[in-house]
Amino acid sequence: MGDVVGFRRPKPAAKAEGNALCSRGFHKWAIVQEKPFEVRSGKLITLYRCLRCGHQKVETR
Ligand SMILES: [Zn+2]
Repeated sequence: MGDVVGFRRPKPAAKAEGNALCSRGFHKWAIVQEKPFEVRSGKLITLYRCLRCGHQKVETR
């Protein structure tokens, strides 16, 4: 024998490319909102969202 049955890998074509970038940390960030959220500490919080996968992150300054 020695015949290896390959696994079936579903390949969602074009979409996978964008997600591959995302999984490497290359998100396509867009600013969703910018507001002085933590007024007490005087920090401005910016909310980002990836246009491809919808992942979100917040950044404080
Ligand atoms: Zn992403």
